[in-house]
Amino acid sequence: LFITFEGGEGAGKSTQARLLADHLCALGLDVELTREPGGTPGAEALRDFLLFGGHDLSPRAEVMAHFAARADHVDRCIAPALAAGKVVVCDRFTDSTEAYQGCGLGQGEPALLDMIARLSALIPVVPDLTLVLQVPPAIAAARMAARGNGRTDRYEALDTAFHARVAAGFDAIARRDGTRCRRIDASAATGAVHDDICAIVAPYLN
Ligand code: C5P
Repeated sequence: LFITFEGGEGAGKSTQARLLADHLCALGLDVELTREPGGTPGAEALRDFLLFGGHDLSPRAEVMAHFAARADHVDRCIAPALAAGKVVVCDRFTDSTEAYQGCGLGQGEPALLDMIARLSALIPVVPDLTLVLQVPPAIAAARMAARGNGRTDRYEALDTAFHARVAAGFDAIARRDGTRCRRIDASAATGAVHDDICAIVAPYLN
């Protein structure tokens, strides 16, 4: 079983992914909790380069770098874990590339979206369930400010128009892939959002 979390900054994905992983462990399942970009040593090094490297790659190069990280992560972590019968919970996956690089950076340029779709089709694993966490922009901004970890990555620093395009991108993906994706109102308290997520995941555990 492969479950991914998606959404913009400040939606609470990482917190909810961890809570879900803990919940599934408590049910006795073998769980692999991982994240993108990253999840393997090589992909984490690419994450560091992409988020904090100070380089401005062309949009196509940036897409390919995300997919290079993803290929390593899938080959060495996700696919083996799934083959071993584990539940994989992943904080971000291909939908983030479509929303951030395709809709955010590329502003929906058709050639870039086409490239992302072609590269996605080459990835040999597809999530069984994608939880798209959605919050109003004001709540997302407040949560990001409260996070205050002092290490702002290059995407977090982009303007509100960028983040609005990303949010609209996630919403469009969730509506288009309605069987795989579930949209979650993540503006409620952490525990309430977690309960919603557990209820959605429960039927997948049989
Ligand atoms: O999920 P998390 O906040 O850890 O993601 C790290 C950063 O990477 C975020 O700022 C997110 O915007 C960015 N990102 C991106 N494109 C992706 C995946 C993540 O710009 N495909």
